[in-house]
Amino acid sequence: MSVQAKDPRRVGVFGGTFDPPHLGHLVVAVNVLHELKLDEVILMVANDPWQKQGTREISPAIDRLALVEAAVHGIPGLTAGSLELELGGPSYTADTLEHLHAREEHLELFTIVGADAANGLLTWHRHERVSELSTLVVVDRPGVESALPTPSTGCWHRVEIPHLEVSSSDLRDRVNDGRPLDFLVTSSVLAEIEARLMYRGQGATA
Ligand code: ATP
Ligand code: MG
Repeated sequence: MSVQAKDPRRVGVFGGTFDPPHLGHLVVAVNVLHELKLDEVILMVANDPWQKQGTREISPAIDRLALVEAAVHGIPGLTAGSLELELGGPSYTADTLEHLHAREEHLELFTIVGADAANGLLTWHRHERVSELSTLVVVDRPGVESALPTPSTGCWHRVEIPHLEVSSSDLRDRVNDGRPLDFLVTSSVLAEIEARLMYRGQGATA
């Protein structure tokens, strides 16, 4: 009797600092999930976003993970990724993809990035490995001129999404200034930010 090969599970890895996660992130995740018929999109929380270190105060990874868990709660296909916290140290997408492959045999991986992140892709640690292990998925980001990935970034897709000019930097400034976050983050994320007293008295961020 022949054993039929199982179709690989199609999983999107959407990495970020998520400090905090906002509607821009969720709109990216649900639209890529839908367009590419993925089984899951993991919002992968960076343990140590090494390229941001020294530029500003970064909230503890455990708090950012709790916010992402609140953000994806009840949204089919979206999950919060804690793998980079478990691995510890600086977070490199190449390592993350290797661990995901090691944990699950039949997996087809997609690395999802906004245009700003895509433009910086060649500065990533072992970026060639990211292209070997996954298909790159690029989404537009308002205000960012998109330099298309070069041939060295391998196979890639562009997914059209509604353009939402929301950023975590602006949201942190809003909390600091006492301006509302309503409708820019989910109400569950807002409740977590308030309960954890996050982003107060940090001064403006660039
Ligand atoms: P910060 O202002 O602190 O850099 P951010 O809003 O850029 O925060 P990140 O956690 O840095 O959020 O981004 C994670 C990923 O989400 C990146 O690939 C980024 O390009 C993408 N992204 C963030 N906001 C948007 C948005 N509004 N539209 C499209 N992509 C986005
Ligand atoms: Mg950013």
